[in-house]
Amino acid sequence: MSDNYRSMWTELGLDLESHDALLGVLGNAYQEIYLSQKNRPEGMAYFDFVMSEVHGLRIKELMDEKAAGRKIVGSYCVFVPEELVLAANATLVGLCSGADFAMEEVEKLLPRNTCALIKSSFGFKLGKVCPYLESADMIVGENTCDGKKKAYESLGQLVDNLYVMDLPQVKSENGRALLQNEYFRFKTAMEALTGVKITAESLKAAIGTVNAKRAALHRLAALRKADPAPISGLDALLSNQVFFYDNPARFTESVNKICDELENRIAEKKGAFPAGTPRILVSGCPQAVPNWKLPFIVETSGAVIVGEESCVGERGTRNLTDASGQTVEEMMAAIVDRYYQVDCAIFTPNPDRLAHIEEMATAYKADGVIHYGLQFCQPYLMEAMPVEKALEEKNIPCLRIDTDYSMEDAGQLKTRVEAFIEQIKG
Ligand code: SF4
Ligand code: SF4
Repeated sequence: MSDNYRSMWTELGLDLESHDALLGVLGNAYQEIYLSQKNRPEGMAYFDFVMSEVHGLRIKELMDEKAAGRKIVGSYCVFVPEELVLAANATLVGLCSGADFAMEEVEKLLPRNTCALIKSSFGFKLGKVCPYLESADMIVGENTCDGKKKAYESLGQLVDNLYVMDLPQVKSENGRALLQNEYFRFKTAMEALTGVKITAESLKAAIGTVNAKRAALHRLAALRKADPAPISGLDALLSNQVFFYDNPARFTESVNKICDELENRIAEKKGAFPAGTPRILVSGCPQAVPNWKLPFIVETSGAVIVGEESCVGERGTRNLTDASGQTVEEMMAAIVDRYYQVDCAIFTPNPDRLAHIEEMATAYKADGVIHYGLQFCQPYLMEAMPVEKALEEKNIPCLRIDTDYSMEDAGQLKTRVEAFIEQIKG
């Protein structure tokens, strides 16, 4: 990464030494996990470039946007509606939280038995290594799981621009009304941040932009139904991860270009792995950049991942927003309808998620499901048990794992994943 970026990082208040260390680890991991893959689509060169410039060019673009008066909003959850951010002429970036950092400092503020994702979000702040976090004019937290909602009380002491969105836990009339009220409150907050009033025109355009990037990922997902799978699970996961911070129009164009290439690969029966390779659906907690541990283990153990039932995956992007409304109110209602369908495990009860897992396993012709839970994540670890039971009743093999971001259990996980793959080959 160019040295020209160092002054930008300094201005953002990053700790250059720690940041160099993070980039070093990230670069090595990317080399070992991504660039060592065989039979990659040529279009993945775009994502390789994005990753090589993840703290460089993209941050420079955000800084240029800021210099031109545009605001940057950071978020930790797919419930934060990008449509409202864009319509207020701001840019939304996901704050990834996919690696351990500054853990000693983190454990002074959070109990040890907090999930890796929450710890990571604190580690990136305390270690001063995340240029996205530091460039954000507003950081949006949300009351989802207990871990997050209590952690935001502490995060609020570390940053001066935290906005917390309240989210329903039950899908009922009251739950929907709460979501609607919260989205109107967020709309007002966005307008106050940017000084730009959201109009029917700007909202329609924003819905179109976000729908287009989700539709591109739907297209990519559908192509993974082919056998041989035309793209590895690692590469498809990367596209889902980059979804959160790339320029939306450029992202859509790049994913569609890859899809054109994948269609040709399917016609030529060319795959990332040979035809007949065991097919796995991963379901569970979000896998944020650079958390590539599980797919790396799976895809170096003789299987291919064909879908992610995850917020960094289909749960996050599943539905489009109806753009046919003519007024702000009609489009706000459509946005509420769209997000209300997200079946995060924080909802109780949450039957839709189970239905979606079964649907995806069938649609992607998965031979088995790996339920990916982060240690200490009560919502997903609790749901993993009924999920496993229901899948087994349908004769869909399921492997339940709970892990964190460290590589300490990589050997043990590999042994379990290999045994599972042998079982489904059975
Ligand atoms: S799993 Fe739940 S809390 Fe986490 S990003 Fe998804 S919707 Fe938000
Ligand atoms: S992984 Fe689980 S515990 Fe961690 S933030 Fe998400 S829902 Fe909460």
